[in-house]
Amino acid sequence: MTLSKAYRQILIILGLSSVTFLMLFFGFARDNRDLIFLAFVLSFCLTVAIVTATLDFRKNEKIRKQLEYMTKSIVSHQPVAPLFIRPGNPYKQIADQLTELQSRQQDESKTIKNSNTELVTILSSLPVGIMVIDSSQDVIFANHKMASMLQRNIMNQPHSYSQDIRNYQLLSLIERVFEDHESQQTEIRSVGDHSSTWDTSVVYNQLENDYHISVIMYDISDIINVKQMQIDFLRNASHELKTPVTAISGFAKTLLGGAMDDRKTLVEFLKIIDQQSTQLTSLIQDVLTISHIQNGTPHHSQALELKKFVDAKLTGYSSMAKVRDITLVDEVPQDAVVSVDSQMLTRILQNLVSNAIKYNRSGGSVTVKYSANDSFWQLHVVDTGIGIAQKDISRLFERFYRADDSRTKQKVSGTGLGLAIVKELVDSIGGVIHVKSQRGVGSTFTVEFPINDESQTAQVDK
Ligand code: ADP
Repeated sequence: MTLSKAYRQILIILGLSSVTFLMLFFGFARDNRDLIFLAFVLSFCLTVAIVTATLDFRKNEKIRKQLEYMTKSIVSHQPVAPLFIRPGNPYKQIADQLTELQSRQQDESKTIKNSNTELVTILSSLPVGIMVIDSSQDVIFANHKMASMLQRNIMNQPHSYSQDIRNYQLLSLIERVFEDHESQQTEIRSVGDHSSTWDTSVVYNQLENDYHISVIMYDISDIINVKQMQIDFLRNASHELKTPVTAISGFAKTLLGGAMDDRKTLVEFLKIIDQQSTQLTSLIQDVLTISHIQNGTPHHSQALELKKFVDAKLTGYSSMAKVRDITLVDEVPQDAVVSVDSQMLTRILQNLVSNAIKYNRSGGSVTVKYSANDSFWQLHVVDTGIGIAQKDISRLFERFYRADDSRTKQKVSGTGLGLAIVKELVDSIGGVIHVKSQRGVGSTFTVEFPINDESQTAQVDK
């Protein structure tokens, strides 16, 4: 409708110029001064009409250029100021629509940006290493976990993946996916400061006109270790069980084969059979205990007068200590009260005290002590025994581990499971066990029990 204003202006200009021309023509032809004067008045109106039309044209041309710029900015997703035009202007409607389009585009860009930020935050905090490589073989995204698995700082700017990945197996896997355009999955072992096993998927993602490759790695070292531990446990358990069973059956067969007619041999062999069956029983008991702990048997904590409790347990070992001429001492303060599962504490004390007696020297001593602070209480089992070599200390808590002296010379009977049981029990309540030892001087095993609940805090007076 307003475009017709331009036509109107053209028509007015054309009309005015024709009438002015005719008036001038007839005015001069007939020498009519009135006509000539009227023609001059009309030519003034014509000039005004031309000037107005020119100004309107220039104004609209400027708006047209602004709209053109605005359109280009919208197409290239660049921010641009909205254009406000007075009503009646021919470009008013289109300018309003472009402004609306641009504001919608900005809203959508914000939503996309927010979703992207959310996605990057989620990907960054995942416990899985993720790396995205574009078709030019440049890394365009890698999360923190991937950086820590590769033990490298990964730049944010696109860069070749070979700058970050040094593992030959992983490099070849990615190369293969680039060549074949087919996803691959395998387990990769990383060697370095900490050797680990990664379950690795290199996924080929086809996009509309391009493709990406995503490397997804999950550290499965713990799972593999647990599997390996189970295999080792079964292998060691069957080996350890076989030894007494073979001995029992061997000696029984020899006796049945005629050796039992000799009374001295009979007694000697029966003693061995008895000894081996005791060993077999302890072994089975220890294996059962380990499996109970692994099944997560719940603990029932209760307030315990520690001194009385330790006294009772030490009394249970008095005959074993007497045979070896070892003094048992309870140095736990009279008023120490702790909150603990008594069955669990019994098992811990049994293992530590029997070891302290077994691996002691004649005339030595075993002392049980207590200490505490606001966050934990400690039980110390101190002996004056043979001590433990430094090389053995780090392995003491492994299942079936026996230090050289106790294994090769087999002076002292044992299953190699006692300390493993203690460690698993202590771990199950979030406690800690440590050992200090000196060869020929003695050892101190310290178990730290956390004090979690204020209601369970022990009344301590050292
Ligand atoms: P075992 O049944 O052999 O005693 P443990 O798991 O209780 O098994 O102990 C593992 C090994 O640690 C023992 O074989 C022994 O060599 C060593 N050990 C444990 N306690 C002591 C100790 N108090 N003094 C010296 N060596 C010890």
